[in-house]
Amino acid sequence: MKIASLFENRTVFSFEVFPPKKTSPIESVYGALEELEVLHPDFVSVTLGAGGSGNGENTIAVAKRLQEQHNILPMAHLPCIHYNKTQIDVILEEFKANGIENILALRGDLVPDFEPTEDFRHACDLIEYIRTKGDFDIAAACYPEGHTEAPNMDIDIAHLREKVEAGASHLISQLFFDNDAFYNFRWKAERAGIHVPMEAGIMPVTSRKQIERMVSMCGASLPRKFTRIIQKYEHNPEALRDAGIAYAIDQIVDLVTEGVDGIHLYTMNNPYVARKITEAVSGIIRSGDKC
Ligand code: FAD
Repeated sequence: MKIASLFENRTVFSFEVFPPKKTSPIESVYGALEELEVLHPDFVSVTLGAGGSGNGENTIAVAKRLQEQHNILPMAHLPCIHYNKTQIDVILEEFKANGIENILALRGDLVPDFEPTEDFRHACDLIEYIRTKGDFDIAAACYPEGHTEAPNMDIDIAHLREKVEAGASHLISQLFFDNDAFYNFRWKAERAGIHVPMEAGIMPVTSRKQIERMVSMCGASLPRKFTRIIQKYEHNPEALRDAGIAYAIDQIVDLVTEGVDGIHLYTMNNPYVARKITEAVSGIIRSGDKC
């Protein structure tokens, strides 16, 4: 099934998981997948680290297991900056052989010690290429506060439009903590002629280290309400986890109220957090469904 078709009649609710590192056994993620199954997400996306950090085999193995053991629609991430066309061909053939027909096409971040190839400079190059290689449903990433390398938001949105014109049928946003940033971005994207569904990426914060790492990577702004929570509970892991869950729920309720196309929950492979949030918001999300 193509994920794009889900947006026709519902507010989509999806999860993101990451596969085990090369050094860990694939089985280490099985327990988390089992616990996510009972939450009935519309789909689960599986990351793939760019360059040498990634393990395409594990991404495919997790996606395949989601589909075959858990009856969950999988989406495989595919960052292209360190792959040439021949390598992408091999991965796409493996996707086909394993029944994976939904791809999140990405440029990926440059990884030190791994040279970028000349074949794919931007995600739009990969999207165009995948379209020539089979009947895949292709999603792309978008950035409510602008991509960190973009000179400004207008230029970033112009590049986002190129991805949609190249064939991206829906978008998944970078994480953000300020819903107004998402609404402004969505409005600007629509004005620029981008009309495909856009899922909002929500990351529940459960530790101070996690938030520092994420924010340094993606540059998300931190509203005062959010930083106050971190400051107050940073030395109390359980309270910080509960406050992070509550903050994410609050964001989701507001987004669904404002008619968001979908919520993509960055689960960080933490089924407890995913369950708490799903239990709190599933009725609200289904209330947004179009009959
Ligand atoms: P692009 O769309 O290529 O954009 C990158 C930069 O180039 C932007 O500044 C853009 O404005 C500019 N640009 C785009 N097109 C052009 C053009 N034609 N000419 C000039 N400039 C252009 N990374 C991983 O390695 N593995 C993952 O699994 C992964 N999953 C992700 C999931 C989501 C939902 C998101 C939001 C990000 C994910 N990333 C992942 C990170 C992502 O790879 C990085 O953010 C990367 O820096 C940009 O990828 P992109 O596909 O958005 O790139």
